[in-house]
Amino acid sequence: MAPENSSPITPDLPNGLASVEHEIARACKDARRDRSSVKLIAVSKTFGADAITPVIRAGQRIFGENRVQEAKAKWPGLMSAYPGIALHLIGPLQSNKAKEAVALFDAIHSVDRPSICQALAKEIDSQSRRPQLFVQLNTGEEPQKAGIAPGEADAFIAGCREKYGLEISGLMCIPPVNDAPAPHFALTAKIAARNGLKNLSMGMSADFAVAIQLGATHVRVGSAIFGHR
Ligand SMILES: *Cc1c(COP(=O)(O)O)cnc(C)c1O
Repeated sequence: MAPENSSPITPDLPNGLASVEHEIARACKDARRDRSSVKLIAVSKTFGADAITPVIRAGQRIFGENRVQEAKAKWPGLMSAYPGIALHLIGPLQSNKAKEAVALFDAIHSVDRPSICQALAKEIDSQSRRPQLFVQLNTGEEPQKAGIAPGEADAFIAGCREKYGLEISGLMCIPPVNDAPAPHFALTAKIAARNGLKNLSMGMSADFAVAIQLGATHVRVGSAIFGHR
């Protein structure tokens, strides 16, 4: 029997964050990459301030949300309590939410159609805020999934730049759930390289080590940090 004063496993200690950090460090080492070349986005969608606060206190500063309204309800309070937080929108964006998205988010990973480009360009101009922008690719060409088909990516990126004056920072992809992710990450990296884009938002809880191997600069990790949703 354990003595009564043995240290308990504290349920709200962010164990997930520590193990994700450990795995990122190992993947960087294996890929001969510097740890600072990979940003961890802690995806906090569906989780409340009680779950997020210990992760912030443990030092995490970049968070991802997939809904503008949910982020608006949750983050302004946390951001005023804890300075230096960067918020990334990783989910679909509607044109009528572009104003709120540009006001709240430091990065938007879901640029995927001309109407969004137009709405973002207008808000970036009127708010004088410049969120980092990622074009979302639909590398698996799944009909139900958002994103630009690989064959249309070069023209779309050129249109973002030339027609809307947007500075595109990188590409984002979400591989099909039942596919091996590596070919999707490799294709995303190849399209980024030929378009002069340095940032790659790819890799989630199940596959971020593979994504780092293939050049991910931003990994979006939710359940491995916060637990099941
Ligand atoms: C939810 C989500 C993630 C995180 O997924 P996990 O499997 O929980 O790590 C990453 N990217 C996007 C776009 C998501 O919607």
